[in-house]
Formats: sequence, C-alpha cells, structure tokens
Amino acid sequence: MKRIGVFGGAFDPPHNAHLALAQAAIEQLQLDQLKIIPTGFAWHKDRSLSAAEHRLKLTQLAFSGLDRVSVDEREIKRAGPSYTIDTLEALQAEELDAVFFLLIGGDQLVAFTGWHRWQDILSRATVCVAERPPQASAPAVTLAQTSALRHRIHLQLPPMTVSATAIRQLIASHTGSPNTSQPDLAGLVPDAVARYISLHGLYQARPTSS
Ligand code: ATP
Repeated sequence: MKRIGVFGGAFDPPHNAHLALAQAAIEQLQLDQLKIIPTGFAWHKDRSLSAAEHRLKLTQLAFSGLDRVSVDEREIKRAGPSYTIDTLEALQAEELDAVFFLLIGGDQLVAFTGWHRWQDILSRATVCVAERPPQASAPAVTLAQTSALRHRIHLQLPPMTVSATAIRQLIASHTGSPNTSQPDLAGLVPDAVARYISLHGLYQARPTSS
C-alpha cells in the first residue's frame, strides 16, 4: 500500500515549522508522497486570507526542495469552505491502493472535534500530530489533555515557536521603516519565500484612511 501524507494549511505565509513538520513526517511515517494542500476558504480562521494566487506560489516556493512532496491546488480551485473530509474523499477515490496520514499541529488537534465530519476523517486517515508551543492567542493545552483522538501518531519535532501570524505582524510593524522595506526573515521562512513577500509587498500595513 502506498503511504500518502496530507498536510493542509493557510500557508499565509508558509514558514520553517511547516517545512520541519513535513520533513519529520516523510521520515518518521516513511511516506511515499506528501501532498501539501493550501486551503481555499478557511472556515475555521477568523480573518480573511491573502489572495490564493500568492499563497499558492509561496507554498510552491517553500516546498520545492523537498523530495516526494507536491503542492495540490484542489482546495483553492474548489468553491465553498475547504473541508478536509471532502479533500480526503477525493484523494481516496483517486488512490485506491493507499493509506492516508493527516498531518496537523497541536493547536489543530485541540480544535479537531470542531472540524466538519471529524469522525469521518478518522475513518479515512491516521491523524499525526506535532506538538506546538502555546501561542499568545490560544490557551495552553498539552496533547495529553486532548483525549478525543486516541488513535493518533505523535510526530517527533523540536518545539518551534514560529507562526504565520507572528511573521505577518513583524512585516506589518516594519512598514515605512526608513532603513529597509522588510525585516530580516532569515530563520523564519525559506529565502525564496522572503524574496517573494518582498517583491509583492505582502503583509505590509495599509495606510489608514482619514
Ligand atoms: P496562523 O498564525 O496564520 O494561524 P499558522 O502558523 O498556524 O498560521 P497554518 O498555515 O495555519 O500556519 O498551519 C498549517 C498547519 O501547520 C496546522 O496544522 C498548524 O497546526 C501547523 N503548524 C503551524 N505552525 C506550527 C508550529 N510552529 N509547530 C507545529 N505545527 C505548526
């Protein structure tokens, strides 16, 4: 049986923790393929995302160096909310001889039982979780406290504090700085992602209208 990983996200922007998680999953789960799936409409986020065209390009740039990884555009092309169960059902219909592993960070595990048809997801994929240090905006919950998903795999990944929110805030807070137009993103995102963000002026604070 082919072993296929599925890693969805807003990727607004993709960052080094996404890459580390993907690499850890390929090695630890012995994946034949890993599909990176930028979300179209993020029903579970309380802000609107950057244009899909930019997030797709950023995701392609971020993951281009990894073997066995491909970026899958189906959620961006699909109308309506991007539900993981719809994506898994479509992938399973295409790959009859495969087992699926769904990769998520610990913050999503905490929220998982709020996902659309989450029990059906569990019957179609093994959920694999990477611990994530608590974020300022979220209550600290350890994976051990979330008992809803007993049959899950714990990915070994050194805790990484980087988040897309922090990167967007860093760039926005730098807008208009006299020295340089963009803060140094080395260590946070791959170089190609930093260049694309700079080239397109993404995440800069918009001037407020009076
Ligand atoms: P935002 O800050 O905008 O909410 P994010 O950094 O959480 O974004 P997403 O694209 O929403 O990035 O995340 C995609 C997946 O990657 C989610 O399952 C998330 O839990 C996981 N993930 C993101 N950052 C980390 C991290 N630092 N450690 C572990 N998992 C992470």
